Amino acid sequence: MSQVRVRFAPSPTGFFHIGSARTALFNWLYARHTGGTFILRIEDTDKERNSEAFLNLIYDSMAWLGLNWDEGPKVGGAYGPYRQSERGHIYKEYVGKLMAAGRAYEKDGAIWFKLLGERHEVFDEHRKKTVTKVKLPPVVIEDQIRGRVERIEDEDFVIVRSDGNPVFHLVNVVDDIAMNVTHIIRGEDHLSNTSKHVHLYEGFGVKPPAFAHIPLILKQNGPGKMSKRDQGALIEEYQRRGYLPEALVNFLCLLGWNPGDDREKMPIAEIIKLFDLPGVNQSNARFDDKKLAHMNMAYLLEQPADRFVTLAREYFARQTENAAAQAALAADPAYFREVMLLSQPKIKGVEELPAYTAYFFSETYAIDAKVKEKVMAKGDPKARLQELAAALAAPEANWTTDAAIEETMKGLATAKGLGFGDYQAVTRLALSGTNVGPSITTMIRVLGRERVQARIARFLA
Ligand code: GLU
Repeated sequence: MSQVRVRFAPSPTGFFHIGSARTALFNWLYARHTGGTFILRIEDTDKERNSEAFLNLIYDSMAWLGLNWDEGPKVGGAYGPYRQSERGHIYKEYVGKLMAAGRAYEKDGAIWFKLLGERHEVFDEHRKKTVTKVKLPPVVIEDQIRGRVERIEDEDFVIVRSDGNPVFHLVNVVDDIAMNVTHIIRGEDHLSNTSKHVHLYEGFGVKPPAFAHIPLILKQNGPGKMSKRDQGALIEEYQRRGYLPEALVNFLCLLGWNPGDDREKMPIAEIIKLFDLPGVNQSNARFDDKKLAHMNMAYLLEQPADRFVTLAREYFARQTENAAAQAALAADPAYFREVMLLSQPKIKGVEELPAYTAYFFSETYAIDAKVKEKVMAKGDPKARLQELAAALAAPEANWTTDAAIEETMKGLATAKGLGFGDYQAVTRLALSGTNVGPSITTMIRVLGRERVQARIARFLA
């Protein structure tokens, strides 16, 4: 079997969104699964709508997602250039071939592709003009995902506009021929173009590659396809929000594919092993931001300490307007690290960290009035706090492990004939101003002797 060559062929005319990323990913997965080549080709023939900023966004987003390309811009390859804006001479040459073979002709300044079949004129009511129809059997596409698809083409179509610019159908097919592409994996919105493309292949005397049209991604709520404007559609947004790219990749894999059992969270190496085109669903996939957030949380939880802390630090650094984040960044790195690590199992996403950890980095944290009212209403919490402060102040008190702190608190409770809970709520309130957070012993250990004693003293005053 010949080497698999697949390509992702985005147009840099807009933000890089979930749909583009999934198409890129499925091509990449198929290349990695088969040991083939993954090409990045930039379809930038639309001069008016292209932008260099959108192009860089494609490069950055793909790099962030880990979708490395084997041929394309920046890395080169034997079939370049890989930007269509630099391939004008190749399109001219191919149009010349069609002209020479009698499969293209000029009319009204444009160049048309000629279908071969019995021709007759009809008046088209809709377009209010006479058009030439060509009688041909339907084009049959054996799509690797959709199965057999038939479509009729019955009119010649423009391949070079009167302004000299080649049309999408032409450049797309020419490049797939010239780059020896073996499998075209793309969104289902292109299925309707495929019959034209098959005719073009035939016009060039080339056997068409295999086609695999991926089902659409439906928007989370309501009918219809997810668009770039829908909430949660843009890849850069996840990057900004501190999502883990491997969590997003895992989630994207499941938008239209599954391993054949109900596993969801899977290492990418395992997905590469199992991924195949017949395994892609025919039915549309629905975007689900809760599922994505959950996947991200599962990945966050298992990150090694160093990576988690780096991720947090990068996120905080981007929150330039967020005072809590900036205060945290200014803290001593060892302390910052401890606070982040105690938060790791407690948060759903990195973006919760500044609020979740704010009181660790500020002595002016607010005391929640409702919580205070509740905590102060039961027993004698002030006395409990004084007792705990005294116990912790004892020279032999050990602040270095959660277990040692727990022992101190439990010992105190037992001695007074009370429970651990009698000390916990008021201590938490004094130290953090709230009733949620990490375990009280962890909070005391990480805040450390000085902060804890100062906070209790201030609270009692
Ligand atoms: N430039 C086209 C797009 O962005 C690519 C179509 C294809 O993959 O063949 O939709």
